[in-house]
Amino acid sequence: MPIPEQDVVRISPPPMTRAESLYIPEVVKGFGTTLRHFFTSFGQGRTSRTMQYPEVRREDLRVEEGGLNKSNFRGVHRLNRDEQGRVKCVACMMCPTICPARCIHIEAAESPWQDREKYPAKFEIDELRCIYCGMCEEACPVDAIELTPEYDIVGASRQEMIFDKEKLLHVYDVTIGGKPM
Ligand code: SF4
Ligand code: SF4
Repeated sequence: MPIPEQDVVRISPPPMTRAESLYIPEVVKGFGTTLRHFFTSFGQGRTSRTMQYPEVRREDLRVEEGGLNKSNFRGVHRLNRDEQGRVKCVACMMCPTICPARCIHIEAAESPWQDREKYPAKFEIDELRCIYCGMCEEACPVDAIELTPEYDIVGASRQEMIFDKEKLLHVYDVTIGGKPM
């Protein structure tokens, strides 16, 4: 449906001053900013955000007890284990339902254990499709899925970046002690 003319707001840019219309002063100002950042990028109190990765890694992604970060950074997922080492997930389907990117795929099956009805026979997350919003973590009623501070994951193919249950449990194993992957 076309937008009615009375609802359209037309905005005209403010006219340029005589100095702005010459462009030269603005170009000089721009170079000044570049040079300021160049000369203040060395030594203490530097303004540069460039890091020599991977020799230098982000230290401000605090890893706290349980290998989880309490900052607002959200990295690769892990599937948590219970005290008996089993996958904690009870296949309630809350996380794939709430996921805005539709990147969680679970196949629920009858649980082989007495203390729950279902468990995930298959659990996959497409880490490339994920937007790391953290809603799966928020929705999980049993704290089975969590986002870790790990960010440097690589894969040679798209398929490798689809993390299956074993890989997500492996992320738990290597992050629970706060160890790097
Ligand atoms: S972090 Fe967000 S986008 Fe990624 S799997 Fe969880 S709910 Fe989906
Ligand atoms: S919300 Fe938690 S328990 Fe439910 S399917 Fe997702 S990970 Fe499993």
